[in-house]
Amino acid sequence: MPDDYYDICVVGAGLSGAVIAERYAATTEKTVLVVEKREHIGGNCYDFIDNETRIRVSKYGAHLFHTKYEYVWDYVQQFSEWVSYTHKVLAVVRGKHIPIPVNINTVNILFGLNITSIEQMDAWLKQEQIHYNHNLTNSEEVALSRVGKKLYEVLFKPYTIKQWNKTPAELGPTVLARIPVRNNWDNRYFSDKYQALPKRGYTNLIDNMFKSSQITIRLNTDYFDIRKRIKCGKTYFSGPVDRYYAEKGLPALEYRSLSFERKVFKNMNHFQPGSVVNHPNLIENFTRIVEYKWLPNQQFESNDTIVFYERSTADGEPYYPVPNARNQNLYKRYKNFANSDPDIYFVGRLANYKYFNMDEAIMNALLLFNQTVNNNYKVT
Ligand code: UDP
Repeated sequence: MPDDYYDICVVGAGLSGAVIAERYAATTEKTVLVVEKREHIGGNCYDFIDNETRIRVSKYGAHLFHTKYEYVWDYVQQFSEWVSYTHKVLAVVRGKHIPIPVNINTVNILFGLNITSIEQMDAWLKQEQIHYNHNLTNSEEVALSRVGKKLYEVLFKPYTIKQWNKTPAELGPTVLARIPVRNNWDNRYFSDKYQALPKRGYTNLIDNMFKSSQITIRLNTDYFDIRKRIKCGKTYFSGPVDRYYAEKGLPALEYRSLSFERKVFKNMNHFQPGSVVNHPNLIENFTRIVEYKWLPNQQFESNDTIVFYERSTADGEPYYPVPNARNQNLYKRYKNFANSDPDIYFVGRLANYKYFNMDEAIMNALLLFNQTVNNNYKVT
C-alpha cells in the first residue's frame, strides 16, 4: 500500500466526523485519516478560552447539549465529565424579558394576565389557537395552531424573518416545530432528560474522541485539494453535499450562516439576565445575544464579561440547511447521486441537509457506522 493509504477517510473534524473516526478506532484495526479545512477540530462546536476575559466561548455560537436518548448519553460519557445545565432562554418583547418556550409565565408577563392553573392556560391557548383541517404545511401554520396570532406576531414572525430571511409561511413546518408550547410553568428551553455541558468544553470532548493512535488528523487541509493524492478504503464526508457534487452542475443548496459581534465589558459581572436573550423585533438587526459567563462549565473566574451579538447572513460558512420545498427537492437530487456512489458516505447536518441537534448528529453518525460496519456500538 502507498504511504498515503488509509482504510477510512473522514472529511470534517466536527462532531459527526469524530463519532465515525472514534468508532472505527475503538472497534476495528483500521487506520483513519481526518481531513479538516479549518485550523481547528470541533466543527461548529469549537470553543476556546478567550484571552482577554478568560471566559470559555464558542466560536460558532452557543451549543447546549440535550438528549432523551440513553445510548447517546452513555456514549458521550466516555469522552468528558459533564456538568448538569438546564438551559433557559429569555426574549425581550415590549421592554420585558419573557421566558421561551411559551408557558404560563410568558403570557402572564407579556399580557399582564393572572393565569394560575393549567386549565386556565389550556383555555387561554384554545381561544388563541387557529385550527386547520389539513396537515400543517409550513411554519406559520405550526405557530398559529400552537400559540395564535398575538404571540406569533411578536415572538416568532420577526425573529424568523431575521434568522431565515423568509417568513415562517415560506419555511417548512419543521423550523417552528422545534419550539414547544407549554400549558404549565416550565421555563426550560429543552425538556429532554439529559441536559449538560462538557466540563472542559466541546473542543476537549472532541479531542478526546480523536485520541487513538489509529487516527491521523490533517488540519488546514481542503479535502478537494488532496483527494487525488490520498487513497481511501471508504470515505465519510461531513461537508455540504452540494459541494461534494459541485461538478454535476445542479443549483447550489441554500444555507444560512451566522456572524458574531464580540463585545467585552470590563469589571461587569453580567451584561444580561441569562446566557441567551433573543430579540424578536425587526428594529434591531441581531437575533440574539449570548453571554457565555452564565454557563457552568467555565474554567476561570473573571471580573469581566463578554457577549456576542448574533446576526444571520446568507453568505459565509454554512450553518443551517433551509427547509423549504425548493431545497428539499433539490436535496433529493443530490441524494440520488449519493445513493449510487458505492464508497462514499454522507454524515452530519450539512451532508444530510438536515437541521440536526448535537445528539441527533451523534445518533446519525452511530447509525451510519452501524449500517456500514458490523461490530460496533450498540444503538437501541
Ligand atoms: N424562533 C423564533 N423566536 C425565538 C426563538 C426561535 O421565532 O425567540 C424560531 C426561529 O425561526 C428559529 C427556530 O425557531 O430559527 C428554531 O429556534 P432554535 O432556538 O432551535 O434555533 P437554533 O438555536 O438552532 O439557532
